Amino acid sequence: MDDLVMKLARSIVEARYPVVLTGAGVSTESGIPDFRGPNGLWRNEEIMDLLSLDTLYFMPDLFYSRGLEVLRVLRGKKPNPAHRAIARLEELSVVKSVITQNIDGLHLEAGSQNVIEIHGNLRTCSCEKCRSTFPFEHIEVSVAKGVIPPKCPRCGGIVRPDVVFFGDPMPEDFNRAVDEARRSDFMLVVGSSLQVAPAAYLPEMVERLGIINLEPTPYDKSALVVIHDKAGEVLPQVVKEVERLLS
Ligand code: NAD
Repeated sequence: MDDLVMKLARSIVEARYPVVLTGAGVSTESGIPDFRGPNGLWRNEEIMDLLSLDTLYFMPDLFYSRGLEVLRVLRGKKPNPAHRAIARLEELSVVKSVITQNIDGLHLEAGSQNVIEIHGNLRTCSCEKCRSTFPFEHIEVSVAKGVIPPKCPRCGGIVRPDVVFFGDPMPEDFNRAVDEARRSDFMLVVGSSLQVAPAAYLPEMVERLGIINLEPTPYDKSALVVIHDKAGEVLPQVVKEVERLLS
């Protein structure tokens, strides 16, 4: 087994409160393109404009046509070996929590329990007026019927996806993520360019870092272990070594 994998596994096992931070790269092997990776389909500014508050409120027709198409790419995918390995590390009582920038819900589907989705999710949508929450399908059904923007069946307010779009404030869950980062002594970052603020500030709050990412990140120099490889190939090896160390 690779020396770096062994070093990473040892760092995780020896840490007092290890946490994981993931980005879009953990889901590329599930068939979801990232923003900034080598195969990122969404490099262009158009996506940032499309998935923004301005488009949601001032161009709802565009948001619920092209924007919804983009969100659909992220729905209905399956967890890959990287998600499953992260869930296993929690099951082994090693990893304490998973902070994710992803909205695809694949960590929960893979079995991770303590997941903090700092950019929201695609399982639900909510009324902006009465705060009632509905399954995401409410949006799909409304749009199919031509009701744009979708309306709340209880109070008639506007219903929107429970996703943090460009221009939205960070949700309460981001404060939970900050608390977890402050409490942690080792953060494993998986599949994040660490260029999107404020999530990119979280690693600064942690004493030691491990990074698994295809490309270099701004934190590589200060990290204890850096592996530039596919998360779905590296993480199952890390789990194997963690299991050996614990046995
Ligand atoms: P990013 O797109 O900025 O960076 C992804 C990183 O992952 C890249 O550096 C790339 O080299 C690396 N990568 C790609 N495939 C990998 C693999 N198989 N193994 C290891 N590394 C791999 O992603 P980000 O930092 O998460 O920021 C993008 C923002 O866009 C986030 O805020 C996120 O909410 C959103 N987003 C979410 C999804 C999703 O939910 N799956 C997808 C795209 C974008």
